[in-house]
Amino acid sequence: VNTGSKPDISRAKSAELYEKSKTYFPGGVNSPVRAFKSVYGTPLFIEKGDGCYIWDADGNQFIDFCGSWGPLILGHNNPKIREKVTEVMQNGMSFGAPTALENELAELIIKNNRFVEKIRFTSSGTEAVMSAIRLARGFTGRDKIIKFEGCYHGHSDSLLVKAGSGLVTFGETSSAGVPKSFAEETIVIPLNDTNAIEQAFAQFKDQVAAVIIEGIPANNGLIIQDEEYVKFLRKICTDNGSLLIFDEVITGFRVGFEGAAAHYGIKPDIVTYGKIIGGGLPVGMYGASAEIMAHISPDGGVYQAGTLSGNPVAMAAGIATLTELNKSSFYKDLNAKAQGFVESIQRFATARNYRFKVFSVGSIFWFAFTDKEKIQTADDIDAGSMEKFKVMHRELLNRGIYLGPSGYEVGFVSAAHTKVELEKAKRAIFEALDLVF
Ligand code: PLP
Repeated sequence: VNTGSKPDISRAKSAELYEKSKTYFPGGVNSPVRAFKSVYGTPLFIEKGDGCYIWDADGNQFIDFCGSWGPLILGHNNPKIREKVTEVMQNGMSFGAPTALENELAELIIKNNRFVEKIRFTSSGTEAVMSAIRLARGFTGRDKIIKFEGCYHGHSDSLLVKAGSGLVTFGETSSAGVPKSFAEETIVIPLNDTNAIEQAFAQFKDQVAAVIIEGIPANNGLIIQDEEYVKFLRKICTDNGSLLIFDEVITGFRVGFEGAAAHYGIKPDIVTYGKIIGGGLPVGMYGASAEIMAHISPDGGVYQAGTLSGNPVAMAAGIATLTELNKSSFYKDLNAKAQGFVESIQRFATARNYRFKVFSVGSIFWFAFTDKEKIQTADDIDAGSMEKFKVMHRELLNRGIYLGPSGYEVGFVSAAHTKVELEKAKRAIFEALDLVF
């Protein structure tokens, strides 16, 4: 496989930093996938980013398609975000009291989004989703939630649950430390399976507070659901008095200003956002109709709070980001650029008969080592894919292209990628594919 491979990049400084970080942090990192456990080599320690480029501690330069796992739709070190953040920081960094900046970001979101009337800012996507679940339970007076195998919703207890082997099962925890009794409130079913959800609703009649799905599932590869299926979810929730929660932490402001809800043309009851709304700083958000949101404390009985919620510096980054995204042709241009990129990669692979598909929506893409036309459940992913990704990841790093260090993760094209970088990336991807196959 390695015939024609480039020599490995130097990682001496990263390796040295990693040795040190292992003495401080479990696995040497503050979030598990960063540890490069499923790809070659030690993790790269990143020193700086600018536009679509990042540089590691050894001075290697990469065209970045990870974008901090999604937030950086405008690229690294965007001057407009940097200026706004710097301006706001002159007046202090946190007050634990309301500021006009929260109103400003909320107005940008609510006035341009048909799916939320009232919102609450949190400091991460995990908090946003955890709070949305509590709100759904408080609003409906029911305890159970239905989630899908392969959807990730952050690391709160009731969402770290995977399916057992049966069609409809009580979830088993997929993390030590989650009490079995919590996991039992989470019913896990496969995606793209109308029978499974009908069975779940029949089995747990009048007990289901909410169904939660990633707007477009993008944490187990990009497992794009058919529009009819998503519409079916909307209907079955309405019919059963359950809320439909769209977790749009990745898709929100990514596939369009109104996220996957607008992409499918359906109205979820509660929406969660994160990543992009913080422009690279820690922000999450959940929102719903005024009626549902009235259940949140201090007006309602569902408690949720945060010392740094609505932090002014984070709000400033969000305002600067969303102001750019709200300009008329932003998504049209970004999505067209990304689609051109993925289509030419697909043409290359198809012409050579490689078992390789690029699945994509807007500027999100995922490399799948398969000849299936669709991958719509976690089980559809071909055995051996991750070994192939591992080779590809190494070859791409050695050619100056940075993808997130896991074959289950999606990549992102940003507004900062120009034709020049996309051409360079394509050439590298073609070479890597020739080496993988
Ligand atoms: N929901 C989805 C769909 C996500 O992709 C993520 C993170 O990747 C989260 C929730 C959790 O967000 P955070 O990592 O900001 O806590």
